[in-house]
Amino acid sequence: PEPVTALPAPADLPAGPLNEAESKALFGHFGVPATREYVVADAEGAVAAARQLGGKVVLKVLSRHIAHKSDVGGVRVGLTVEDLPAACADMLERLRQAGAPVPEGFLVGELARAEVEMILGFHRDPQLGPAVLLGLGGVTAELFEDTTLRLLPIGRADAEAMVGELRAAKLLAGYRGAPPCDVTALVDAVLAFARMAETLGGRLVEAEINPLFVGRTGEGVRAVDGLAVLG
Ligand code: ADP
Ligand code: MG
Repeated sequence: PEPVTALPAPADLPAGPLNEAESKALFGHFGVPATREYVVADAEGAVAAARQLGGKVVLKVLSRHIAHKSDVGGVRVGLTVEDLPAACADMLERLRQAGAPVPEGFLVGELARAEVEMILGFHRDPQLGPAVLLGLGGVTAELFEDTTLRLLPIGRADAEAMVGELRAAKLLAGYRGAPPCDVTALVDAVLAFARMAETLGGRLVEAEINPLFVGRTGEGVRAVDGLAVLG
């Protein structure tokens, strides 16, 4: 299998939701890196991909029609090569039972880890216009509702201020002896989303990375999930 790196020119992308691999390739094109991963058709491909990656992997359903993969049993984290054939069969069965559409394939990715998990989003407010959203992501996100929004255009100082006004700023700075996170890379990611919105103009309807894994200083950020909708 081939790693997911290439993307057709944005102008050649069709309207509608992109699948996770296409969305991450789009975000990568504008400078937000993603976890290493492969698109495969079946269990055999998944095994080959896991061998390439080495170590434990993540198995996900690949479908532009499934926005919340976990809800339909479409995400398994921490699998070995040996686990994959049964995990693929099991996932297809769970998708069928959930009434989900027939998937385009599977994504097999490296198991990543984060110091802090964030959400990075783009949406169009019907009254106010295009905006970028940044917040605390992951399982704790709904609990704390720690997000901030800026209407575009924004510059580096705005993106830095967005990070600074989150309660999560303390976590990112290294809370209670935890190592400080790569805030520069996080700010770069916010600016990459702003640039993407500017470049794609009205074609970009919506975009979200949840979670965006933030590493320690110097480790950068990684898009672990991705969803873009084009018009
Ligand atoms: P969903 O469509 O349900 O949002 P995600 O792709 O966000 O699916 O995966 C669900 C969760 O699984 C993530 O929030 C993250 O905690 C974990 N996860 C997904 N991919 C990886 C990965 N490559 N490494 C580690 N954890 C992952
Ligand atoms: Mg997600």
